[in-house]
Amino acid sequence: MLKRILPALEEIIYPRYCLLCHIRIALENQLRGVICRDCIEKIKPNRPPFCRKCGRKILKFEAPENVCAECSKTQFCFERAWASCTYEGVIKEMVHNLKYGNKIMLAKVLSQMMIDFVSDYHLPLEACDCAIAIPLSPRKLREREFNQAEALADNLCAHIGLKLLKNNLKRIRDTRSQTELEKSRRWQNMQGAFALREPGAVQGKTILLIDDVLTTGATASEAARALKNAGAAGVYVLTLAN
Ligand SMILES: [Zn+2]
Ligand SMILES: [Zn+2]
Repeated sequence: MLKRILPALEEIIYPRYCLLCHIRIALENQLRGVICRDCIEKIKPNRPPFCRKCGRKILKFEAPENVCAECSKTQFCFERAWASCTYEGVIKEMVHNLKYGNKIMLAKVLSQMMIDFVSDYHLPLEACDCAIAIPLSPRKLREREFNQAEALADNLCAHIGLKLLKNNLKRIRDTRSQTELEKSRRWQNMQGAFALREPGAVQGKTILLIDDVLTTGATASEAARALKNAGAAGVYVLTLAN
């Protein structure tokens, strides 16, 4: 009895509104708390076949050996990447909210999508010894107060039982925002952007790099380069969206 009354009372006292469309979320529809069911259903999950390098969805006939046109011209420093959904529409808004609206509670909803993706597609993460979130520059971290990639990684790693190495990978240059730059400049912008505080901790290790979005792959690739220079045996990448 109390179990049914308490949530109903809570709903009256603290009604919940969807962070995206701002409609009041009915008690029976409080799917994962902060986002309404309609908005959740608009998210486009990534479905196979995936590009063997960047993890984007490919159409088989245009992809020899399962590598997309973009990746056939690109050399990444990581082994391969995966992403749980396509970076468009609702998910773009959610990531924007997470980063700039300081909506850290969104990290839980979003990391759940990554957790589901890992289990749905049996990602071989048992090959990884530990995970590292792509760091922000100290200036950005001060402005934003939290690293959205680390917030996602915290939930994900706790769930899949992977050790999250913190405060090791760091940005050594304050790069320009990748979103401000055209594609060709993004690679240049990231060159030499990362280093390790404790290179010994990654030596011989296979690492899962975690970030919110993979676009050109330049950021993840440069982070992977720093890890490999420090002796990492392999680097895989998992992002929320691509
Ligand atoms: Zn909504
Ligand atoms: Zn690709």
